[in-house]
Amino acid sequence: MSSKVRVRFAPSPTGPLHIGGVRTALYNYLFAKKHGGDFLLRIEDTDQTRFVAGAEKYIIESLAWCGISPDEGIGGEDRGNGPYRQSERKPMYRQYVDQLLADEKAYIAFDTADELDAMRQLAKDAGAANWQYNYITRGNMKNSLTLPKEEVEAKIAAGEPYVVRIKLPRNHEVRFEDTIRGWVSVNTNNMDDKVLFKSDGMPTYHLANIVDDRLMGITHVIRGEEWLPSAPLHVMLYEAFGWECPIFAHLPLLLKPDGPGKLSKRDGDRLGFPVFPIDWHNEETGETASGYREFGFFPGAFINMLALLGWNPGTEQEIFDLQGLIEAFDLSKVSKSGAKFDFEKGKWFNQLYLRALNEDQLAAELKKELDKEGLAYNEAHLGKIATMMSERATFPQDLLTEGQFLFSAPTEYDEKTASKKWTADSAGMMQDLALRFSALDDFTEEHIEASFKAYLEEKELGFGKVGPSFRLAVTGKGMGPSMFTICEVLGKDEVLARIEKAIAVLG
Ligand code: GLU
Repeated sequence: MSSKVRVRFAPSPTGPLHIGGVRTALYNYLFAKKHGGDFLLRIEDTDQTRFVAGAEKYIIESLAWCGISPDEGIGGEDRGNGPYRQSERKPMYRQYVDQLLADEKAYIAFDTADELDAMRQLAKDAGAANWQYNYITRGNMKNSLTLPKEEVEAKIAAGEPYVVRIKLPRNHEVRFEDTIRGWVSVNTNNMDDKVLFKSDGMPTYHLANIVDDRLMGITHVIRGEEWLPSAPLHVMLYEAFGWECPIFAHLPLLLKPDGPGKLSKRDGDRLGFPVFPIDWHNEETGETASGYREFGFFPGAFINMLALLGWNPGTEQEIFDLQGLIEAFDLSKVSKSGAKFDFEKGKWFNQLYLRALNEDQLAAELKKELDKEGLAYNEAHLGKIATMMSERATFPQDLLTEGQFLFSAPTEYDEKTASKKWTADSAGMMQDLALRFSALDDFTEEHIEASFKAYLEEKELGFGKVGPSFRLAVTGKGMGPSMFTICEVLGKDEVLARIEKAIAVLG
């Protein structure tokens, strides 16, 4: 095994990539970068029946959005280990199957799907819940262990479909050490002689995965816990080939926020959050699913949130950029138990990332939102507005929705504030204010504030008597950022027009 760390993310293009998959890719990437190794992207598309058009493109785009770029493979370089799509590697696998057959580590089986179903039913009727094709049952099946050699050859020559199965030894303890879970031990008596090669001439996931990991020089297999049950079989395959096993690390599941079980799309729909990195649209079925990117998440916040689901740095630190994660990441600090998904925590990260932006960056975010809505704006004010609104925002779109009144005059007035705060004196007070404002040459925050305060003083009015109606008249709302900043941004004419309109509407 080469000493350089080489890891791979090996998704199957069967649909959009769940955030659990993104986390697997992220941990692989962090581990590779931490150890100066290579991160490969390989597409495992041997199961043609589950292939979904567009899924590969989706995976690449999702990883790119997260800043996870493969060194080698799909979306990375071809360093002589390609192709990196298993369907394109089809001719490579046959020789490995032949090797196993020649070494009697595998055998050919002709049983049809109906025959297998019949066996399962028989077993069920006899009270055996889990029928397996194994060292006991294979002696009663139609395979190269039970049929004469000539008959096997004749069947193959006649084009009869067949599969190749691994020939697991009886009563053998398969043991391996998983970096996260410790020692794992399974007896072959409880395992199935899994199919390695299918009648369509394609390898199954198990065979292709092992052969490719070997040919691509993979040193560490870091993948989701759902693959743990397959790991003993993979260990047996490495043994059958006489190859050294890579190091395994099976990552804990992402769990529902509110109960047991794996986080699913249904949980996201039910609780109102995405479980995919970016929006997904399946042209063929019309299936759509929402993503974190379109929800308004910054990739940094998304990655930060994901990284801490199942891993902790061993310190109190929670905010990490990608480089910080690379430096801090350690597989030995990945927990065994599942990580409860917490969308509120994700929002908290996004809010922190948003607030960490400087005025220009905030202005750029707001500009994108305004352009999306086709709203007109004065470029000079964007920085000020965005900074002002960022105090109340979690997502870039909040910069606009929370401050919509800065771009268009209110068409309605907050009812609660109107009924409580807009009194018989309000119209008069607003008229007074308008008069004072119209006399201001320099309509800036400081001058507006000074003028407003002088008015209160002169009339011996408390802020609570005038402030809320003033805000209501200009913004239509009961709460918000500083009115003086708002007025400066809106400009004198607009403020006066809004006051006039409010008096007309509210009376
Ligand atoms: N193709 C498998 C998947 O879709 C890869 C499992 C592995 O990493 O071995 O997750």
